[in-house]
Amino acid sequence: MSWGFETDPEYQEVLDWAEEFVKNEVEPVDKVITHAWDLQDPLRQKLIPPLQDKVREKGLWATHLGPELGGQGFGQLKLALLNEIVGRTHSGPIVFGAQAPDSGNTEILAHYGTPELKERYLEPLINNEIVSCYAMTEPQGGSNPVEFETTAVLDGDEWVINGEKWFGSNARFASFYIVMVVTDPDAEPHKRLSQFIVPADTPGVEIVRNTGVWGHDYEVGTHAYTRWTDVRIPKDHILGGVGQGFEVAQTRLGGGRIHHAMRTVGLVQASLDMMLERAVSRTTRGKRLGDQQLVQEMIADSWLQIEQFRLLVLRTAWRIDRYKDYKKVIKDIAAVKAAMPKVLLDVTSRAVQLHGSLGVSKELPLGKWLFESYHMGLADGATEIHKVGLARQLLRDAEPHDGLFPSYHLPELEELARRKFAAQMAGLEE
Ligand SMILES: Cc1cc2nc3c(=O)[nH]c(=O)nc-3n(C[C@H](O)[C@H](O)[C@H](O)COP(=O)(O)OP(=O)(O)OC[C@H]3O[C@@H](n4cnc5c(N)ncnc54)[C@H](O)[C@@H]3O)c2cc1C
Repeated sequence: MSWGFETDPEYQEVLDWAEEFVKNEVEPVDKVITHAWDLQDPLRQKLIPPLQDKVREKGLWATHLGPELGGQGFGQLKLALLNEIVGRTHSGPIVFGAQAPDSGNTEILAHYGTPELKERYLEPLINNEIVSCYAMTEPQGGSNPVEFETTAVLDGDEWVINGEKWFGSNARFASFYIVMVVTDPDAEPHKRLSQFIVPADTPGVEIVRNTGVWGHDYEVGTHAYTRWTDVRIPKDHILGGVGQGFEVAQTRLGGGRIHHAMRTVGLVQASLDMMLERAVSRTTRGKRLGDQQLVQEMIADSWLQIEQFRLLVLRTAWRIDRYKDYKKVIKDIAAVKAAMPKVLLDVTSRAVQLHGSLGVSKELPLGKWLFESYHMGLADGATEIHKVGLARQLLRDAEPHDGLFPSYHLPELEELARRKFAAQMAGLEE
């Protein structure tokens, strides 16, 4: 029997180091660079690689990957605790070699790439010498694979891709795409699709525009609307078999979803820390904000929501490590994914309100985090879809009851209990 809510002292030391490192080294970088994924930015290139070297020296590089891929094989639970610290920052994930969407793409390539593809793309991706894009969503059909229209057709030794994709994060920085397209339009829904790796400079791959989002202040957006016109790639650039696209997608999405949740724990904890400092610093009508009961309620509600969410995330991470099979934790990951935007929205909304005008100003990051909650409710699938998935899993395991009244109907249970204890009750009843 083992059941605990404590971090080993040895790993706690690692976390303490990470806490100091992120605060003193990573947070200042966030204040002066625009986009940590932009490998063409000379200031980014001066500031981030030396920090990545320090993380490597400390043995914390790409902790989500096994040692065979240059990672530490820490597993998800340790990563969850580390990501809570790293997730407070923009550059942190890339400094620690665990940034989306590259971490998920790494998992796909590691599982399904040929040795040549791994040498050409996986190694430089793991080392952050390049970054990548995942192109799945389509402008007319969202991320429902059944609605996808972009196709790949085999022509001799090459696949030819035609169609459009929507909202591919970081496409303008990426050296390659992993793209999910239709290879057999007439097959049953989950066998219609396959995944391919496509170098970004392949003729016919076009960024129609880089869409910007509320909450990110970049001058040029980072979510690409892409058009694919007669894009030819070698036959071996398929990842997994023909028709296995859906299965391959699950390899990346399970990990990606929980990693977002781990970082979200960091963001909401940071929001609560800000609320607490403000509540004991700011006074109004002769009282501290923290002495007002409604402010106390905001603080108590935030702590409760954060702790409940954090435990769900940690337990899910633990279950991933325990079963080493995402299929066994689909329900848990759906729950985490569905809970995440609400916690982020609720806690950051309270933090904005508690800070008054300063809260809505651009002099604090709270407005950005508030909008991030909407990003989290869509990226890697809309909340509603995850809720439906969770409910279906729960309903699938539920047993129907034959009787007129349910199995927990009190009169029936009392009757059963009276029969069970008939001997003991004999002569005692009036
Ligand atoms: C910040 C961010 C980053 C992203 N990065 C990427 C990326 O790198 N690559 C990529 O391919 N895509 C990416 N996406 C796209 C993302 O996967 C889609 O936004 C998401 O899957 C929803 O698709 P949609 O936006 O077309 O909305 P729609 O499919 O039009 O859905 C709109 C709304 O309709 C409702 N709805 C839809 N379907 C259902 C259903 N089955 N049941 C109940 N309600 C439903 C929900 O309320 C949903 O929010 C990103 C999105 C965001 C916001």
